[in-house]
Amino acid sequence: MRELELYGQVAGKDVVEHLRQLASLLKGLKVVHINSTRRGGGVAEILERLVPLMKELGIEAEWVVIEGDEEFFQCTKNFHNALQGTPVSIPESVLQHYEEVNARNAEAFRELLQEADLVFVHDPQPAAMLKFCPDRKGKWVWRCHIDISRPYRAVWKYLRPLVASYDASIFSIAEFAQPLPHPLYIIPPSIDPLSEKNRDLPPEEVEATYRAFQIDLERPVLLQVSRFDRFKDPLGVIQAYRLAKKFVPALQLVLAGGGAVDDPEAEAVLQEVEAAAADDPNIHVLFLPPEADRTINALQRGADVVLQKSLREGFGLTVTEAMWKSKPVIGGDTGGIKLQVINHHTGFRVNTPEGAALRARYLLHHREIREAMGRKAREFVRENFLITRHLRDYLTLMVSLTYEVQERIELS
Ligand code: UDP
Repeated sequence: MRELELYGQVAGKDVVEHLRQLASLLKGLKVVHINSTRRGGGVAEILERLVPLMKELGIEAEWVVIEGDEEFFQCTKNFHNALQGTPVSIPESVLQHYEEVNARNAEAFRELLQEADLVFVHDPQPAAMLKFCPDRKGKWVWRCHIDISRPYRAVWKYLRPLVASYDASIFSIAEFAQPLPHPLYIIPPSIDPLSEKNRDLPPEEVEATYRAFQIDLERPVLLQVSRFDRFKDPLGVIQAYRLAKKFVPALQLVLAGGGAVDDPEAEAVLQEVEAAAADDPNIHVLFLPPEADRTINALQRGADVVLQKSLREGFGLTVTEAMWKSKPVIGGDTGGIKLQVINHHTGFRVNTPEGAALRARYLLHHREIREAMGRKAREFVRENFLITRHLRDYLTLMVSLTYEVQERIELS
């Protein structure tokens, strides 16, 4: 069976029909996506699905990965941090090197880029390529995946003219954007319902996963899946669990997550969490390897209530993942969680451990309400945050740019 049909089974036949209708306006269009890594990170994960689906719809989509050396990636990592607000100083010579690497990559793909009708450039790494394609015939769109609402000014001053020359830009949520002199589009991220992380699992596998960690599925389980990062507030989660446990004595808490190679703080945060949990055998702190997608899937499916008590958050894909598994989520009132957790409908938004505990107690004591919220959460994700919607947004944007629709269009 073709890929799109498989997605149709999950997202709905009409969704696939809609995609085909939109794509019929784009047949044969030459589209290039450019980013800086084939594997690792959310951008690569999304392109890996999106590009083949575009091809299946008759669009001549290509995915190009730029090459760079260590100095280049150090520079772009600094851009990344600076765009998210960290003060960093980048010497002139390094900026020059950044541009040279972009120029070399533009040269390597010259023909493809000249001929392309639409080019999507993801994040800052390849952003300067536009400058080195003066003879382009198509439209170029800068796709920013990070929160640049409060950038470190000196670095933004350098990058802004580079991205301002694009024909349009895309941000994940409106709060992340910067004013730019071209149309700005909002396209939120998505999850792939057919991936190992999100596909249906047999109940026996869920039970076996919990058994392997010696967690009792007969008793209520609160779960938070997150990197061990202070912004995810794992200590606040433990506090909320302790408050809720006074009223739900059988309660267990699972804090599952790994570190990130580029996050030196994870180890220290894990130690703090382990120390806070040490006196309670009903708190399970699971340090997971990077390839634990199926384990995370099973943990999310087995939990009664999922927490994501972040103090600051980007989009919060763990929220989407849990909601897709029909779990009501108690989430911090921040970032993309606000788009996903609709208070009293798909879950609850909270600002304190006390608030989280109150909502957890309520949900644990009201099974029917919990299940009804979980069902609404799944439908909310089906409507808004599956990869098919993501593809639809891209196609709509492509139609608008190709046919030069003048008025602003709202996506999603
Ligand atoms: N994740 C994972 N292993 C972990 C912790 C998280 O695979 O140990 C996954 C999680 O399932 C989600 C993503 O990493 O898909 C985290 O994305 P999110 O937007 O929630 O937070 P971020 O880590 O990007 O701040």
